Amino acid sequence: EKTPVRVAVTGAAGQIGYALLFRIASGALLGPDQPVSLRLLEITPALKAVEGVIMELDDCAFPLLHSIEATDDANVAFDGASVALLVGARPRSRGMERADLLEANGGIFKPQGQAINAHAADDIKVLVVGNPANTNALIAASNAPDVPNDRFHAMTRLDHNRAIAQLAKKTGTAVSDITNMTIWGNHSASQYPDLFHTKVKGQNAAELVNDQAWLENEFIPTVAKRGAAIIDARGASSAASAANAAIDHVHDWALGTPDGDWVSMSVPSDGSYGVPEGIISSFPCVCKGDGTYEIVQGLEIDEFSRGRIDASANELVEEREAIKQLGLI
Ligand code: NDP
Repeated sequence: EKTPVRVAVTGAAGQIGYALLFRIASGALLGPDQPVSLRLLEITPALKAVEGVIMELDDCAFPLLHSIEATDDANVAFDGASVALLVGARPRSRGMERADLLEANGGIFKPQGQAINAHAADDIKVLVVGNPANTNALIAASNAPDVPNDRFHAMTRLDHNRAIAQLAKKTGTAVSDITNMTIWGNHSASQYPDLFHTKVKGQNAAELVNDQAWLENEFIPTVAKRGAAIIDARGASSAASAANAAIDHVHDWALGTPDGDWVSMSVPSDGSYGVPEGIISSFPCVCKGDGTYEIVQGLEIDEFSRGRIDASANELVEEREAIKQLGLI
């Protein structure tokens, strides 16, 4: 029998946490033969709510769930962790300036980066879900100097999955017919879902759709504004699909992407495709199944895509400048 893998989850009492923890414990994250041990981090006032979630996890009697522990101490939460899902974050409130938002999140992600640096396992993989996810990931990575920075990712998989769903609808195909989707840039309104390399049953998606107006005026905005549309319809945020995307991201990072396909992951830029080095930006990535990933190389970027990729990367450069000035990195 395999040794349990320690998985840390922050914001465990929140909406996404509630959709995420049961999937992790069922084996959806690391595979059906991999026991997991959960460490749940919450702020002190939410610890009681976490106890309730733990009661429910107990009541599922998941065969793969080895143990659960809740804490309000990041040093305990990340101790020995091989996977960390950073979900808890400070949401933007009405009228909040970007600098205030970044500063509030710096107060969360800086100490968490330091705690990961001091206590996590050597093979730690960190996925930041809490927004602004890309820049929160950069804050955490910058405060964990002993951990290779390629272990800090931010989630753009939900945008990737949303783009696949929209394209399947438009082309009357199944989501399983669609491969090689890419989200470039920031997990924000500036993100760029790229159909020029996507395939539908092996055929180029942009050529198949052959409708630049739909691409620019419907597809891209629908994907970028999907979160708001769900809040509008449901009266609550898209927590379940966000949790599902977090599972997909870590699952593929740890266990590999299918041959010939790739996924969208926000990872530290190495300068590929002219994206400034060091920002955590979304790229097409392949994962080999040994915990490593590579940014797919050699894709041709046309003028339209170039403009979109640059605009989103510039937004991330500005956010990096802001957190530098706040002394967070
Ligand atoms: P959610 O669980 O709904 O969301 C958590 C974070 O995920 C938010 O930053 C949210 O960003 C982000 N997110 C990313 N993608 C999505 C998506 N598609 N849909 C919705 N959210 C998305 O928030 P709750 O308020 O329910 O729970 C947050 C929990 O975190 C609370 O229990 C709080 O106590 C805890 N917390 C814990 C901390 C810690 O452990 N140290 C620190 C701070 C908070 P956005 O707001 O932009 O939607």
